[in-house]
Amino acid sequence: PGAFVPSLATRGLTKSFGGVRAIDGADVTFHRGRINALIGPNGSGKTTFFNCVTGMIKPDAGTVTLDGRDITAKPPHRIAAAGIGRSFQLCRIFPRLTVLENMLVGVRSPSVLHRLAGARNDGDIAKARELLRRVGIDHLEQSEARDISYGQQKLLELAGVLMVDPDTIMLDEPAGGVNPALVGRIGTLVRELNAEGRTFVIVEHNMDMVMSLSDHVVVFDRGRPIAEGPPSVVQHDPRVLEAYLGV
Ligand code: ADP
Repeated sequence: PGAFVPSLATRGLTKSFGGVRAIDGADVTFHRGRINALIGPNGSGKTTFFNCVTGMIKPDAGTVTLDGRDITAKPPHRIAAAGIGRSFQLCRIFPRLTVLENMLVGVRSPSVLHRLAGARNDGDIAKARELLRRVGIDHLEQSEARDISYGQQKLLELAGVLMVDPDTIMLDEPAGGVNPALVGRIGTLVRELNAEGRTFVIVEHNMDMVMSLSDHVVVFDRGRPIAEGPPSVVQHDPRVLEAYLGV
């Protein structure tokens, strides 16, 4: 990793659900061109943070910027158009469509109907096939998505994210529920995509993956960052141990 270049950043980001302050004035800066990890105990606000950043829910207060441009509370398709792609903790795919069809409907785009109408041109099909080959599931293109393994569904979701060429990719638990062989493949893909210049922000519980993959780790507790830095440093931070152990 070279010099620090801020990419995605939040200032004072706040979101409550009833009496629960899920995000509590969070100031977070992720680094351009790096593999950033966002970790923290269950309920510390990681998914809510993702949802606020990607426009799935509106924050109560605070700002989200991408390369200095304000994207706070923009609708999800505008945020996608600004260059942020994301996956979901529980894969979002259409189970009864084929693998190839899933690539073409752009299920990760909110404007599904728009893409259904416009996406089936030869260029998109060629691109879809190339990406399926890249993630290693091109032999499954005619299978219904419900018939492939959960790990393969995660690879399909990642390939679908790549259809829109995002330069920042947010992954919510890419290794969750995935067998070790596919976890390895997902890690390799993330490294390759990062080497091509894409920035990653990854929420992940698999600490081996976080420690081996990421350049920069942000640790959340109770809706805000309590520590950040290289994985080898964060790992030994007493505040982090305390947050996880609840002491
Ligand atoms: P994490 O992803 O770190 O496990 P979440 O963002 O899912 O954390 O949750 C943070 C807090 O916000 C938790 O206390 C959770 O119960 C609460 N929360 C999240 N989403 C909702 C919701 N839609 N309605 C009510 N409470 C929510």
